[in-house]
Amino acid sequence: MVYGALDIGGTKIAGALIDAEGRVVVRVQRPTPARESAQAMMAVVTAVVNELAACPEWGALSCLGIGSAGPVDTFAGTVSPVNIPAWRSFPLVEQVRSHPAVPDGVEPVLVGDAVAMAAAEHWIGAAKGAANALCMVVSTGVGGGLILGGSVHSGTTGNAGHIGHITVDQNGPVCPCGARGCVERYASGTAIAAHALESGWTPPAGLPATAREVESSARAGDARALAAFDRAGRALAAAIAATAALVELDLVVVGGGVSQAGDVLFGPLRHHLKSFAVLDFTRDLPVVPAGLALDAGLIGAAAAGVAASGLYRAGAGATGPMTT
Ligand SMILES: [Zn+2]
Repeated sequence: MVYGALDIGGTKIAGALIDAEGRVVVRVQRPTPARESAQAMMAVVTAVVNELAACPEWGALSCLGIGSAGPVDTFAGTVSPVNIPAWRSFPLVEQVRSHPAVPDGVEPVLVGDAVAMAAAEHWIGAAKGAANALCMVVSTGVGGGLILGGSVHSGTTGNAGHIGHITVDQNGPVCPCGARGCVERYASGTAIAAHALESGWTPPAGLPATAREVESSARAGDARALAAFDRAGRALAAAIAATAALVELDLVVVGGGVSQAGDVLFGPLRHHLKSFAVLDFTRDLPVVPAGLALDAGLIGAAAAGVAASGLYRAGAGATGPMTT
């Protein structure tokens, strides 16, 4: 039995066949024609499915998960990725279902990319075995997904865990989402670089002003670079503490490009968490790096497909898809 997965992002459209242990058996990828028409976008998805369907393993397909950049509406089966303007409430599930190679009885399952990451970390990554975990992606944006009671909790439309748009400062800067003081305005890679620049930091000659360069400067002891990461870690800590107070977490997993900064981010995050997570049941909450890197989106889409297809074995201790 293999699990099919599609991962729709602003730069690439990937597909994979994944075995019962979460290993990627076949992987295909094409660039996203993000500025082209809805039909041109869908043609690339179709080509990726064609390529997967041409593999002999496709004959053992038992489910098909689709992870997509958000916003998504998993109830309606539609996607409206911010970076793919031609797709607004695009009926992706229906379109994939109508692909002639998708077998009758295999119902495509849509999941947002951050929820997919949480599902992947819970299946075979850093949140494996956790009953209640928050898995975050700190990258160009900030997203997240929740594991509650041993299962992925994605909400009615698939957007639960969207921690990047929790307000951590009521008087903070206006966020593109329309609210104020969202975590994302402090902790995204973009926000870290912007804050460092505003405070007078400059990237080394010839290099772009990115969070990665701010990290390098922080490692070299630049106070403005360190302050930008401290501010990011503090915002993340406040949002994590709020989430822990609401749902009582056992574990927090942080992945995404900015998390590659390691202690430069995790140091201030854990430091500030001590002052925000002070209730008996929120104190000493472990915050750990993600266990999966490159293919978390695909693995998580497969895990979501498995879960929705009833192949998922729920309950404490048994946190992955059935292997028999
Ligand atoms: Zn926001």
